[in-house]
Amino acid sequence: MLTGKTAVITGGARGIGAAIAKKFASLGANVAILYRGSTSAAEQVVQDASAQGVKAKAYQCDVSDATACNACAKEILEDFGTVTILVNNAGITRDGLLAAMSEEMFTSVLDTNLMGCFHMIRAFSRNFMSARYGKIINIASVSGILGTAGQCNYAAAKAGIIALTKTAAREFGARNVCVNAIAPGFIVTDMTENLDGEKMKQNIPLKRLGTPEDVANLAVFLADNVSDYITGETLRVDGGMAI
Ligand code: NDP
Repeated sequence: MLTGKTAVITGGARGIGAAIAKKFASLGANVAILYRGSTSAAEQVVQDASAQGVKAKAYQCDVSDATACNACAKEILEDFGTVTILVNNAGITRDGLLAAMSEEMFTSVLDTNLMGCFHMIRAFSRNFMSARYGKIINIASVSGILGTAGQCNYAAAKAGIIALTKTAAREFGARNVCVNAIAPGFIVTDMTENLDGEKMKQNIPLKRLGTPEDVANLAVFLADNVSDYITGETLRVDGGMAI
């Protein structure tokens, strides 16, 4: 289904990013995963992906650092030739009430979630423009749609990703590059391990928490040719949480 395509996944060592990388590899895509600190987890994902018979490699890259993103994109293009799919998944939370939030807490979340997404799209823009085909998938959040108390930094970053997605879709559209966002709800990963899942379920019409695979399945749809006429869209994977 994704045979012969090359996908770059930021934050691909753990959680949702790892699930996307492994799912893409199982469908025949070569995968380049970016990680910040989780070296052994990244190597495990590379091993799992390689077992599917595709090319896989991990790159240490902090997406909040523009220079590092440019250097990493160059290295990936040297290693893989061209990139068809870019998944901007790397993200962090640093929760706190707005009235008590420091500027550093606010900007650090924007730097990774929103700036990281911008850095990576820009770093691969020439690749996508000249290929005249591609899929950019940005991982937003229902927080960026609804707002979430205690997450003004994160919600602002994710709402920014939704606007960035729409703008990039307009700019890259003439080159046949689709740019879409996924807005997950409550997904069981390290990021949500300290949150009260049982309480959250009460607000989820499907009455269960999401899995990284639920998100990976939508990423497959947006990465595949079957979604070639969808761009600038934000699709929720949230069990109905943000209806
Ligand atoms: P995890 O905390 O499990 O994983 C986050 C990943 O992002 C890690 O692989 C981490 O790499 C990477 N990362 C963090 N900062 C950087 C950085 N500066 N540079 C490069 N990589 C970085 O989170 P999830 O899998 O849950 O989240 C993935 C995405 O989904 C995020 O964008 C998150 O905001 C979004 N999301 C998650 C939801 C959920 O309920 N879990 C809900 C809605 C959205 P490393 O381990 O190497 O540091």
